[in-house]
Amino acid sequence: MTRPVRACISASALAHNVAVARARMPGSRLMAAVKANAYGHGLAVCAPILAAAGVDAFAVAGMEEAETLHGLGLAPPACLLAGPFAAEEIPLAAAHGHQLVIHRREQLAWLQQSRWTETLSLWIKVDSGMHRLGFALADLDRVFADLQAVHCPTRIHGLLSHMARSDTPADPYNDQQIGLFREAILRWGEHTLGEHSLANSGAVLALSSARFPWMRPGLMLYGLSPFPDAAGSDLGLRPALSWQAQIIATRRLAAGEWLGYGAAYQAPRDQRVGVVACGYGDGFDRHLGQGTAIWIGAQPSRTLGRVSMDLLFVDLDGCAAGEGDWVTLMGAGGEPLEHLAGQLDTIPYELGTRIQARVPRLVVP
Ligand SMILES: *Cc1c(COP(=O)(O)O)cnc(C)c1O
Repeated sequence: MTRPVRACISASALAHNVAVARARMPGSRLMAAVKANAYGHGLAVCAPILAAAGVDAFAVAGMEEAETLHGLGLAPPACLLAGPFAAEEIPLAAAHGHQLVIHRREQLAWLQQSRWTETLSLWIKVDSGMHRLGFALADLDRVFADLQAVHCPTRIHGLLSHMARSDTPADPYNDQQIGLFREAILRWGEHTLGEHSLANSGAVLALSSARFPWMRPGLMLYGLSPFPDAAGSDLGLRPALSWQAQIIATRRLAAGEWLGYGAAYQAPRDQRVGVVACGYGDGFDRHLGQGTAIWIGAQPSRTLGRVSMDLLFVDLDGCAAGEGDWVTLMGAGGEPLEHLAGQLDTIPYELGTRIQARVPRLVVP
């Protein structure tokens, strides 16, 4: 029996958000970013739902995630966004049908030295202005010359690049990046199958000029907004996550009594308090104690005092809830992750990835 804390993942919400992405970039194939345990939502839970919703590929950060997908036996292939981290990964990628993004010269040398028999699928990463991973346009002649010297079977899907400011779509930097990517396609696209890819969630939602044969959304598939001034629901998305935990004890504080570690909260009057089976050890940020909105069914309430490792306090004043009732800590039926991320001065991307492995992920309709 596990502790009564759960991350419920809505299958219909994920499928709905896939449909929103497809409607925004009609005709583009969809590579769903599921790195970092599907943005904390649970890779093993989300990937089968996304596959059933018809995504065409998965984007992951490394071989371990690709191998987890392989173990699930799903049809869409996994694409390693940073390619191989060592030469030994290349034959494994070929054998298991994982695609590799090639972004530096050393990886080309590994390709030339490696031997494999299945066709290996590659993408060539172009640096269009992010200046994180990828080849500068000036390097691409050499890159394609080096690829000629690879003697095992390969398929080069296309050029791939990543956007630095798609969360602020009106920024002219986006047009600059799109322009540079188009130039790279004009000059080197003919050496590939023409399956180029640029758009992440911000671009899928707000930059139609970033539409290429493949899109690569992540965050929006989980129903979350990449834009600082909007929540997913403002964009027609549905949050996939509802993070819930049970009230496992209640107590009545007399006026003036103190609560929890550091005696950080003092009851101003007689007050009912619930103890909830979730804490910072589950990934619930300690800065969300003392007044953060959490929901008991349809009723808004708030945290009190300090968040402990395994427990936190909820205000039950004027509320009939008691032991055995569930509260929603964030997501569907509770506070949007976007709001809480703003409160913590971070982004919804990070908030999801903080949910610890000990929180079971369950599929709900
Ligand atoms: C994470 C990632 C994506 C998806 O980005 P979102 O903003 O979550 O849509 C796409 N491409 C690359 C290279 C990434 O690292």
